[in-house]
Amino acid sequence: MAKALIVGSVALDTIETPHGTAERILGGSASFGSYAASYFTDVSIVGVVGEDFPPEAIDQFKARGIGVEGLEVREGKTFHWSGRYEYDMNEAHTKATELNVFADFRPKLTAEQRKTPYVFLANIHPQLQLDVLEQMEAPKLVAVDTMNFWIEGFKKELTGVIERCDFLLMNDGEARQFCEKPNLIECGRELRRLGPSTVAIKKGEHGALLFHNGGISFFPSYPVMELKDPTGAGDTFAGALIGYLARKDDTGADNLVRAVQAGTCMASFVVEDFSLTRVANLGPGELRERVAMLREMVRLPEPDEAALESRLASGVL
Ligand code: AMP
Repeated sequence: MAKALIVGSVALDTIETPHGTAERILGGSASFGSYAASYFTDVSIVGVVGEDFPPEAIDQFKARGIGVEGLEVREGKTFHWSGRYEYDMNEAHTKATELNVFADFRPKLTAEQRKTPYVFLANIHPQLQLDVLEQMEAPKLVAVDTMNFWIEGFKKELTGVIERCDFLLMNDGEARQFCEKPNLIECGRELRRLGPSTVAIKKGEHGALLFHNGGISFFPSYPVMELKDPTGAGDTFAGALIGYLARKDDTGADNLVRAVQAGTCMASFVVEDFSLTRVANLGPGELRERVAMLREMVRLPEPDEAALESRLASGVL
């Protein structure tokens, strides 16, 4: 089992969905990512919070075994994101992004953190992602996630991060925005040409496309009945995926597919409630059960070759 280091936002979110509103709840890409990864391996979180950050939330990170030595508490206010979803919960509408203590945060990793083999640079300012990357000593796998906010304002820095990562995650809208192309297959290929050997394009409830050394794979999402708040689904997917790869310490093609299954199912839990409520309270065996159900749901029968043959070719028509 290898360790994982996760850098990203640690936030207080204000969220509106058709199922209700929640104010200043625990959020942030690194929070979701590290909770999800902690189910699989030892995780350390790197980020910053302000004096308004509830100490209980730090205790909850610790209770999940997440290392918080890299989580600074600074004078000022915690990063605050306010977003709204309509019935199409695949799209988040940002109302406000207040960087607060993240505005001038420059992380300084400990000697031990620099040696972590699996690194997830979750969604945050690309310059901060680069700062962390520059301090790492020969990591085995660097995964990167981002968002439209950074593509709009910091594309050059973000491109620098993408060029140096092994595994890039973007959602469909972000991939189209970054590549300035409508077709996702073209986008995936173009993103791989920048550097990462694996690119995941996430399509919310419609699953994910994976571009890797073996070609292109498609993974459906787990069909969720209780969709309350989709915030953090992408970060949870990525965190579980990286945690899984680190636990097995194997980035081979088969393990990658298993990691995506774990990520898909972990993400299906987080959306069932606000914040990290559901992921913090998974019962034993719940994840295993969903992975088994997902496999059952996507089982395809052997094709009936004869039935697929064109009637035209056989001379009937
Ligand atoms: P996701 O739904 O997986 O894209 O992640 C949503 C989380 O990302 C929320 O908890 C926010 O606090 C956080 N977030 C929103 N905007 C940003 C941003 N510009 N940079 C970093 N984190 C953000």
